[in-house]
Amino acid sequence: MPNDPNKLDLSLVIPMYEEEQNAPILHERIATALDALDLTSEIIYINDGSGDGTLEQLQKIHETDDRVVVIDLRRNFGQTAAMSAGFDYAQGEIIIAMDGDLQNDPADIAKLLAKIDEGYDVVSGWRVKRQDDLLLRKIPSQIANWLIGRVTHVKLHDYGCSLKAYRAEVIKNIRLYGEMHRFIPALASWVGAKVTEIPVQHHARQYGVAKYGISRTIRVILDLITVKFILSFSTRPLQIFGVWGLFCFLAGSGILVWQVAKKLLVVGYGLADKPIVLGGVLLVVLGAQMIGIGLLAELQVRTYHESQGKPIYVVRTTLARRREDRTQHRETAQ
Ligand code: UDP
Ligand code: MG
Repeated sequence: MPNDPNKLDLSLVIPMYEEEQNAPILHERIATALDALDLTSEIIYINDGSGDGTLEQLQKIHETDDRVVVIDLRRNFGQTAAMSAGFDYAQGEIIIAMDGDLQNDPADIAKLLAKIDEGYDVVSGWRVKRQDDLLLRKIPSQIANWLIGRVTHVKLHDYGCSLKAYRAEVIKNIRLYGEMHRFIPALASWVGAKVTEIPVQHHARQYGVAKYGISRTIRVILDLITVKFILSFSTRPLQIFGVWGLFCFLAGSGILVWQVAKKLLVVGYGLADKPIVLGGVLLVVLGAQMIGIGLLAELQVRTYHESQGKPIYVVRTTLARRREDRTQHRETAQ
């Protein structure tokens, strides 16, 4: 574990939306788990615009435990945004996110930390015995897990489990949107992180209600398309639009040339009753538009990277002598 006096060893990030009954029990369990570990820590609860007494409960907890930080969002921004607020605030070298509804078990924190100590950058929880509704939650989530694995090439059993540990430098480099928190392992692996998973406990919800239904699966699939695009083509969008655009354009042109030639060469051959001509026109227009979109996207990508000073690569460390050393080095070499 690191021993920098200005840094903490561990930050817990816990989004809370209408979890008033869970808050005190959760905190007690977290405190017990952390007390057993020899490290400096903070526990960041993010109140995501709850309409019940969650905030009051968190304030009480804050008064009794000085490791506790409470971030109160102005309205309900959603779980990913709430987690993001916590990640931005966190000062720990290692950041662990978990749900605030007691479905994750704070006793697993030690296991996650041990795995990080083995040299991994992201350790994801795998709810081997998931305690949720079979039809509405477990089956859609299995399909989503399979799809995410295929598309992102990061093989995990359970992307949806919030209980995950991250090295701070990895998570702080990832910007989250939409329902993206489940794609953090994929996004992290894109920036070169070593990702793994370990089995964790999962309990049924006792108090409060789950905030999501089946509709989340659809949003997850849409986010998956975004993630795939970001991971594969975000620095060269014309490659994807251009290939399909050219294909459509050439196919359409071919059809049109063929039909026009036929009309010119075959006496009595009319184009008015040939639907394939329409198809040809459609493909040409579509192709031209896709190439246009690809070019616009190329402009966007440049604006995105350059306006935010975002390089297209991620450096882990650089071994270099300081400038004076380097000049000296050159002089002695001559
Ligand atoms: N949550 C949140 N904002 C929301 C919805 C949920 O902060 O808009 C929190 C919620 O309090 C819980 C976690 O996100 O701590 C997971 O929510 P939930 O238990 O409803 O999801 P599930 O476990 O069913 O995936
Ligand atoms: Mg839950």
